[in-house]
Amino acid sequence: MTKRAFNFNAGPAALPLEVLQQAQEQFVDYNGAGMSIMEMSHRSALYEQVNNEAQSLLRELFGIPSNYHVLLLQGGASTQFASVPMNLLHAGQTGAYVMTGSWADKAIKEAKLFGETAIVATSESDKFNRIPDLSSIQLPDNAAYLHITSNETIEGTQFTSYPDTGNVPLVADMSSDILCRPVDVSKFGLIYAGAQKNLGPSGVTIVIVRDDLAANSPKTIPTMLRYDTHVKNDSLYNTPPSFSVYMANLVLKWLKGKGGVAAVEQYNRDKTKLIYDTIDNSGGFYRGFAQPESRSIMNITFRIHSEELEKLFVKESEAEGFVGLKGHRSVGGLRASTYNAVPLESCQALAQFMSEFQKRHG
Ligand code: PMP
Repeated sequence: MTKRAFNFNAGPAALPLEVLQQAQEQFVDYNGAGMSIMEMSHRSALYEQVNNEAQSLLRELFGIPSNYHVLLLQGGASTQFASVPMNLLHAGQTGAYVMTGSWADKAIKEAKLFGETAIVATSESDKFNRIPDLSSIQLPDNAAYLHITSNETIEGTQFTSYPDTGNVPLVADMSSDILCRPVDVSKFGLIYAGAQKNLGPSGVTIVIVRDDLAANSPKTIPTMLRYDTHVKNDSLYNTPPSFSVYMANLVLKWLKGKGGVAAVEQYNRDKTKLIYDTIDNSGGFYRGFAQPESRSIMNITFRIHSEELEKLFVKESEAEGFVGLKGHRSVGGLRASTYNAVPLESCQALAQFMSEFQKRHG
């Protein structure tokens, strides 16, 4: 049997074994076509079926209302940092942002290239270890949208509720937590996410955009970066990342088979509880980075009191088959990413390893 690592990578990240096996079975000959999905025209009936199925499964699983478009694009979430202001931030308007950490920062920097921005809430004073309180945020009168990063992958913080923005569209970068829990999509004007954490391999980026917002881009925006281009062409304006879309479709089918997003949320909570409990019951040996009320169920960030021990933790964990536990270089420490496809067994193994490591070195 193939040996699979305890994969806690932050992205690209673990994919369901069943999905990989299914792709392996279909790799050389997809559905009797005599060729792989990668070798066929994106205008073929077989690929069109994949394109349609991925979109309709996303609609079904995420409860996307009919007045929204689902786009399957390229360029990663990083391109959306620019596409959002290019398409939605009109002359005389301000792009409002919640500054929660590393990825929000990148989104804001990009928006500044296109127009006025305002940071309406930040947790910088706490080194971004929490989601700021948004109960009384003031949006500028001319706000084009409010942008949030629903899960900060590097700091390990996650929104537990979303701000009410009235008529101002709420825009969310959900790259690291899309489909990890049910969301009321109708509260958002636009949601985007790179696929490589919860949805499949890298290469495809999901954009869920309300019809009216997709139809109103300034005339000067390049064709490929306009939402209406991809709306009009059903995400087939140019050659799509066909293999990534195919893989995402398999992941979506797998998710449906698991009982959908609500079922997977419970699974994610059970998984992360094992690790957060180990941190909290360690008598201070392990210290969670995120404040408890902002803890992410996708990225668990924690520290040990000495950097030497953190290095040793990574080394010893690797020797036991764990992958991806080193924290991001910008914040240091340790991080376990527990996306949908990370099995409970990996988290049980990690919790046990953490307890044993503490016994050896505590
Ligand atoms: N936003 C968040 C929250 C992310 O975690 C990442 C990637 N780790 C990005 C944006 C950037 O995504 P991409 O690499 O697809 O451009």
